[in-house]
Parts: sequence; structure tokens; C-alpha cells
Amino acid sequence: MIDIQDKSQCCGCGACAQRCPQSCIVMQEDEKGFLYPKVDIDACINCGLCEQVCPVLNPGEKPGQCDCFAAINPDEKVRLASSSGGVFSILASRVIEDGGAVFGARFDEQWSVVHDCAETLEGIEAFRGSKYVQSVIGDSYQRAEQILNQGKTVLFSGTPCQIAGLKRFLRKDFPNLLTVEIACHGVPSPKVWREYLNSRFKGRPITQINFRDKSTGWRNYSVLIGQHAKPHDDDDFMACYLDNYNFRPSCFACPSKMGKSGADLLIADFWGAEAVNGIEHDDKGTSAVIVYSSRGRLFLEQCGMDLTAVNVESLMKHNPCIGACPRRPADYDTFWERYNKRPGWSLKRYGTLSNKKLIVRAKRMVSKLLGR
Ligand SMILES: Cc1cc2nc3c(=O)[nH]c(=O)nc-3n(C[C@H](O)[C@H](O)[C@H](O)COP(=O)(O)OP(=O)(O)OC[C@H]3O[C@@H](n4cnc5c(N)ncnc54)[C@H](O)[C@@H]3O)c2cc1C
Ligand code: SF4
Ligand code: SF4
Ligand code: SF4
Repeated sequence: MIDIQDKSQCCGCGACAQRCPQSCIVMQEDEKGFLYPKVDIDACINCGLCEQVCPVLNPGEKPGQCDCFAAINPDEKVRLASSSGGVFSILASRVIEDGGAVFGARFDEQWSVVHDCAETLEGIEAFRGSKYVQSVIGDSYQRAEQILNQGKTVLFSGTPCQIAGLKRFLRKDFPNLLTVEIACHGVPSPKVWREYLNSRFKGRPITQINFRDKSTGWRNYSVLIGQHAKPHDDDDFMACYLDNYNFRPSCFACPSKMGKSGADLLIADFWGAEAVNGIEHDDKGTSAVIVYSSRGRLFLEQCGMDLTAVNVESLMKHNPCIGACPRRPADYDTFWERYNKRPGWSLKRYGTLSNKKLIVRAKRMVSKLLGR
């Protein structure tokens, strides 16, 4: 039976809860706002399935030699609405046009992030764009299994640990399943996100959220909430994320990155693409795709994308988070202590806004005042 003693040993994928034959595992939010399994011991029959499907207890292997490509979506509107080069939308559209189903992360009515399934082109629009909050996986694995058993194609996208959880949950290979992991720096807490929105908007309705608004460029993206766009390092939630404070503890010991999840493909931002020959750099976003499996390769060919072959090292050089775990800040525990003791969202109050960031912000404010 699953018994979490060390929080860094649970990525919250929910495979155990979805597989339990007694439905005696619920996912409960802890004081940091992350979900962990809680077993009703009286209902448990000690079948051991929860442990068998756990991707942390049963980590995968890194695949061998992988091919890597740069690509962009030729539809400019879709590309601009996507976080990188818009490759996800090409892959997802292909599956929908062939009558399949796509799983991804969307905002719900309260701007929380949840995993969901779409079977139409309109449906996949909500998955477009990165949401820097751990998505609630709910019963997505069970739903995917049902659709796979009907013989339909399923494209399941998510963080590497969500893909690893799905693969373990299914316990067999479905030839009609295609899995796409996003490069994953780490995931922030849903509670911190909720409280951030409440403190900034105090219950006022929010019309739109875009964590990667490209109107100021792909590199210098802004965080757009309602009508307010801020440079990404001026937004306190994003600054906290980029400095690894609001992270799930398992992200510092990630069990699934770089294909260990068993995914067919990885999609990422191709930072540094301008240094690679043959790739146009127009600051509208370039995607990188890593091919882990022959199924992934075949599917990519079927999508008919314009792909530029690059070596994996040139991608990793500018994007180390693809393969390596993020650094745990020395004052990570202090951040959480202060966060839970000092209500009212303010990075300054948690003492985690670095001097470097304060100087950048001060300079930006002075330029604004001087009208530069
Ligand atoms: C939490 C997080 C961390 C990331 N870290 C990195 C990184 O370190 N380096 C890097 O190169 N890229 C990172 N990315 C991925 C990158 O930002 C793009 O999502 C990816 O390159 C695909 O971009 P796209 O333009 O093809 O499509 P987009 O339309 O931008 O991608 C949408 C895809 O992202 C998925 N998605 C969005 N939010 C979530 C979420 N909260 N949980 C699970 N899936 C989600 C959607 O389901 C869909 O599959 C991260 C994304 C997220 C959500
Ligand atoms: S051992 Fe079996 S019954 Fe008990 S919690 Fe795990 S999956 Fe459920
Ligand atoms: S990693 Fe997933 S399967 Fe393992 S205990 Fe946590 S939620 Fe359950
Ligand atoms: S860093 Fe690893 S553990 Fe954390 S969300 Fe990403 S894939 Fe999961």
C-alpha cells in the first residue's frame, strides 16, 4: 500500500488513486497546495496495485540515441498563441482530424489548471499555451484507457511524470496511444496560484490569462492577466517560479525527465535556435522536438511538418532543464514557512526576491518614469 513518508518521492501523478480497485485512495492537498495520495486503510485489501503503478517506485530508463529537430507552425496565428513554435497544435490537430482524442491541460472556470480530453479542433485550443501550475490529473488516465479500448487514437500530452504515470497505470502497450511530454522545468503549487490571483484581483472577474504573451517578443514574453501585462520577471508569481520556490518537492528529484517517462516525443522551447544554421529567428517562437521512439518518428512524418535536424547538445546547451533537475533554493523551506505565516501575496515579504531582480525592477521603473 502506498505510504508517502518523503514528499520528494511523490510527483502527484494520481496513477495509484486511479488504479486502486477499491477506490480507497483520495488525492489530498497538503499545506503547500500539492496533491498526495491518502489511503482509507479500512477499505484497502492489500493488493499492491498502487505500488506497482507508481512511476517513482518503478522509474523508467533513458532511451538511447534520439533525433532532435527544430520546427515552427506555419499558421502564424496559432504559433503566436502557443508558447514555443506551436508544434503541439500540429500534432494534436492531426489526431483530431483522424478521429482521435487529445488530452492536455486547460484552465477551468476559476482559472485553476486541470487535465481534460478534447475530440474537436475547437476543444484543443484550450490546451494551447503553457500554464505554469501543476494540473489536476483527475480521472484522465481512466478516460484515456476507455478511449484506447474503443480502438481510437489517443494523444496524451503532459509533464514527463504525468506521462510516466499514464504508462504505468495502463500496464500494457496500446498501439493506438501516442504520448508527448513537454520539457518541464518544474511545477508550481496550485494553492499559491489560487492565492496569488485572489490577492491581486480580490474576486474581480478575470477575462484572460496568458503566461507566455508574445506581444513583447518570444524571448521577452510577458505574463498577461486580464488587461494587465507585465514583463515576466516583474510578475511575482512568475519570478517565484523562475527561482524554483513554489515548486513541488519531487521536481528536485525528478524521476521521469528526458524520455524516462516512456514518452514517444518531447516538445520544448528552442532557446538559442538563432545560433543554429538554417533556422530563421524572428522572435515569434521556435519549437524543439525530440524523438524517443519509432512510433513518435512515424507520427511526426505523417504530420508532414517542415523539420530541421539539429543535434541534441545544441538544444540542451540553452535549455538544461530538459534533462536536469532544477536547483533547490537554499532558502526553499524558509520561503514556505514565511508563505504560510504571512498572508497577502508579496515576494518582498517572503524575502525571496533577489537583489539582482530588485535592481532590474528598479531600473525598469526609472526608465518608465523618465519615459524611455
Ligand atoms: C510547467 C511547465 C514547465 C515548462 N518548462 C519548460 C522548460 O524548462 N523548457 C522548455 O523548453 N519548455 C518548457 N515548457 C514547455 C513549453 O513551454 C511548451 O509548452 C512546449 O514547448 C510546447 O509548446 P508549443 O508551442 O508546441 O505548444 P503550446 O500550445 O504552447 O503547448 C501546449 C502543451 O502544453 C501542455 N501544458 C500546458 N500547461 C501544462 C501544465 N500545467 N501541465 C501539463 N501540461 C501542460 C498542454 O497540454 C499542451 O500539450 C514548460 C511548460 C510547462 C507547462
Ligand atoms: S493496496 Fe490495493 S486496495 Fe490497497 S490502496 Fe493500494 S491499490 Fe488500493
Ligand atoms: S507518484 Fe503517483 S502513483 Fe506514486 S504515490 Fe504519488 S500519486 Fe501515487
Ligand atoms: S520536474 Fe519532473 S516531477 Fe516535477 S512536474 Fe516536471 S516531470 Fe514532474
